Amino acid sequence: MIPAKGFAIFSKDGKFQEHRFNRHALGKNDVLIDIHYCGICHSDIHAAYSEWGEGIYPMIPGHEIVGIVTAVGSHVHKFKVGDRAGVGTFVNSCKQCSNCLNHHEVLCEHGKTVHTYNCPDYFHNNEPHMGGYSNCIVVDEDYVIRVPSDAPFEKIAPLFCAGITTYSPLKFAQVKEGTKVGIAGFGGLGHMAFKYALAMGAEVSVFARSESKKEMAMDMGAKHYYSSVKDAKHANLDFILSTIPTSYDLTDYVRCLAYGGELAIVGLPPFNVMPTISIAQLVFDPNKKVYGSLVGGIKETQEMLDFSILHNIYPEIKLVEGKDIDQVFYDLTHSNALFRHVIDMKKSFK
Ligand code: NDP
Ligand code: ZN
Ligand code: ZN
Repeated sequence: MIPAKGFAIFSKDGKFQEHRFNRHALGKNDVLIDIHYCGICHSDIHAAYSEWGEGIYPMIPGHEIVGIVTAVGSHVHKFKVGDRAGVGTFVNSCKQCSNCLNHHEVLCEHGKTVHTYNCPDYFHNNEPHMGGYSNCIVVDEDYVIRVPSDAPFEKIAPLFCAGITTYSPLKFAQVKEGTKVGIAGFGGLGHMAFKYALAMGAEVSVFARSESKKEMAMDMGAKHYYSSVKDAKHANLDFILSTIPTSYDLTDYVRCLAYGGELAIVGLPPFNVMPTISIAQLVFDPNKKVYGSLVGGIKETQEMLDFSILHNIYPEIKLVEGKDIDQVFYDLTHSNALFRHVIDMKKSFK
């Protein structure tokens, strides 16, 4: 066992508190990472507040992790002590099913994807796995991303969820030079999607629910900024990525698509207000594709990191400390936040 400490929530209406726990011992394929930074994703809020069904408590969220390798198991060959490393939304899977073998580990067909938190660790006695709002983590090297030593460390962390979750559907939809793209929800994920789409050569518009980020979006190179989706029904977009974490009307976005256009959804609102779409809507506004997307595999995550570094694409971040988590959750759910908050773990413990 490896003693660890983190910031845990103990019930859906609780507050974060410092919490001591144990990481499993270092296995022969594992690396021990001293965590330096961890991003705060809106998924952390949905999970911590049991908005996707009852959470597993105590819960230490966090799945946008970067740190430095401090120990390696005897069979580890990708990492050595002192290397920079990243961990995203999952830390293990079966490695044998066709999805795992085809680099879609998060879609493990045997149901063995171990999500970084709020999930039993199927490979270690089903102990609930604890996330990155903590000082260290032990992960199988196959699920750890190599981070170059000259990359801006604290800005790399959010790439392991916000980055890959938006890069992956943009690639899947083959967004390229001239594609007319709309990004719905302009927060942590949305602003990364925006930057990637722009780098892929697309003409990018933003859908938000207020005017507050209009100037920023236009400065960043937006084609249009819609504070109401109703104003965009003749936009004729080829591709829309929805990152919206609240209830909304999906049909409004389908309407903004050109014939043959695609709406990919990554935002996952609370289950009790989950948007739905009617068959009649799809039939009478036909030949448009609507589908979901779930983060991305390890291979694609490494590709996303290379793309981000090559094109100098990083999130806009605000550094915070562990004591600030409750306030950040409040701000993210009260339209009082810009893009991404990143916890400086080294400054967080007394
Ligand atoms: P943020 O809170 O950082 O950003 C959400 C943005 O959406 C905010 O800018 C917010 O604006 C805006 N927004 C909220 N409601 C609406 C609305 N009705 N119309 C337009 N804009 C709206 O969240 P994240 O980017 O971190 O996460 C977004 C969602 O993606 C979450 O549901 C999260 O769980 C999910 N997610 C899914 C993943 C996947 O693999 N599919 C992976 C990671 C996250 P305002 O400032 O006004 O509140
Ligand atoms: Zn996330
Ligand atoms: Zn599998």
